[in-house]
Amino acid sequence: MGLELIKNLMEVYTAEDPMAFQHPDGDPWADFREVMRIEWKMDFTYKHVLGKYSKFFIELANGKFVTTKCKDCGKVWGIPRPLCSDCMGICEWEELPGTGILTSYSVSNFVPAFMKVEIPYVLAIVKLDGADTHFTHQLRNYGDSTDSIKTGMPVKVAYATEPVDHPMLLMYFEPA
Ligand SMILES: [Zn+2]
Repeated sequence: MGLELIKNLMEVYTAEDPMAFQHPDGDPWADFREVMRIEWKMDFTYKHVLGKYSKFFIELANGKFVTTKCKDCGKVWGIPRPLCSDCMGICEWEELPGTGILTSYSVSNFVPAFMKVEIPYVLAIVKLDGADTHFTHQLRNYGDSTDSIKTGMPVKVAYATEPVDHPMLLMYFEPA
């Protein structure tokens, strides 16, 4: 009996030092070069309650962008929140037109496998019209090249037309 006890064992191998590390005392990881690779399949259902934010997602499914406004100080939070972070006042829902200005963005040519998105993946930070804070989400439909993306360009909220895995994917940004 031995390694055959491990059902999903793929291989055991000796890893080389990928950087040909020259340490004055020799290879510091010499005792850890034997590497076991396994295949570990996980399948589970994760139930997540969206709580006080639920209306935001329900309205996205209706093609509306709603956020919250503080009843006490009037601040409009681009990302909705039940309680105002500035004055602790209770907020109320407020519909915004979904238009705004791209204030910053980043282009990712690598994303984690679970994201299942096309690359480059463009993450946009948008100052929405009518909001006092920014909103971060993916920018799509910018054309053939990310060179066309410029800070200061008008963008708008676009709504999913195909079923999505997570309510957050019910929206994205695109050039206005
Ligand atoms: Zn407030």
